[in-house]
Amino acid sequence: MPELPEVETVRRGLQPVMERSRIAKVETRRSDLRWPLPENFAGRLEGNTVTGLGRRAKYLLADLSSGEVLLMHLGMSGSFRVFRGGDEQLAGRFHHERSRHLTHDHVVFHMANGAVVTFNDPRRFGMMKLVARRELEHEPLLRKLGPEPLGNEFDANMLARACRGKTASLKAALSDQRIIAGLGNIYVCEALHRAGLSPKRRASTVASKGGMASERAEQLVQAVKAVLTDAIAAGGSSLRDHRRIDGELGDFQHDFRVYDREGQPCSTAGCKGTIRRIVQVGRSTFFCPRCQR
Ligand SMILES: [Zn+2]
Repeated sequence: MPELPEVETVRRGLQPVMERSRIAKVETRRSDLRWPLPENFAGRLEGNTVTGLGRRAKYLLADLSSGEVLLMHLGMSGSFRVFRGGDEQLAGRFHHERSRHLTHDHVVFHMANGAVVTFNDPRRFGMMKLVARRELEHEPLLRKLGPEPLGNEFDANMLARACRGKTASLKAALSDQRIIAGLGNIYVCEALHRAGLSPKRRASTVASKGGMASERAEQLVQAVKAVLTDAIAAGGSSLRDHRRIDGELGDFQHDFRVYDREGQPCSTAGCKGTIRRIVQVGRSTFFCPRCQR
């Protein structure tokens, strides 16, 4: 499932062909993804210029000259292909085995600049929705999301406030979209390892008794930002390196320090620990019991 860095990489892949370009034509090859496509979907998009392409958590937001915003989510298996000037590439390194099957091409955007942007989604958990820009703050899908982990609002004090008195584990707290938006299983595991904090630790321990940020909160915030920034940089580099769709998009997956590395030695300098896997809130957690306390 794509996480925040993958979605940001997709956004950066789409930006050059979609932003400031007019949508000439939209083909919808079926009437629903996860949910039905909006009424008169193609008609509300065609003729509009994409004035900006942003991201909120794992949602892509295309601002349209009509005053509406096209809200898009990749779901479990969604991807975009960009075809321009005889060359085709995936926007972002996230790749699904079946995404080359044209039967799963559901929505095709023909841009006035000649680019063709195709949304492919074999499992159809992705979604597209049109929302008036002025209604966006009331949008149910976005309203309850916590701050962006790479934004200024996410800092040690904010994290301490959000975790104060929480008996849930740090793993559960960081995965809670109301506390921080867009963090998923992989990057929560990676950030906790970088911060040297156990995923089993009570969330409340990143706050001092008075509710102020502790040293741990500072370490964790830095680790979250570093893990995401590195992942976006790696996704970006693989995007530049891959001119063709060859099914393999970069070796970013091998950069994980704990995720999916059960039984392997810990990569922390001087640590002789072995990565363990446990299950928390129904999801696998990977961590080093030696250096994560
Ligand atoms: Zn270790």
